[in-house]
Amino acid sequence: MGYYRAESSAERGKPASEKGYRFLGVANGWGDTPPEVVRCRQLGHQTSDAETRNQYHVVTCDECGYSFEYDCSG
Ligand SMILES: [Zn+2]
Repeated sequence: MGYYRAESSAERGKPASEKGYRFLGVANGWGDTPPEVVRCRQLGHQTSDAETRNQYHVVTCDECGYSFEYDCSG
């Protein structure tokens, strides 16, 4: 994982996809939880969760530099 943050204030407001974060796909389609996410949860990072489009949320960890979506429609 080689994402080091040298964010300017302009960078901070950008969507994760434009910050060079690794996009892990849609959580509902995962067979196993990606190691990044397992590690992140173990470390207890604070992730952000934002609604994107209809019934989809995007979870981003600024510490790890990843984002993924999940579908909460059931
Ligand atoms: Zn993390």
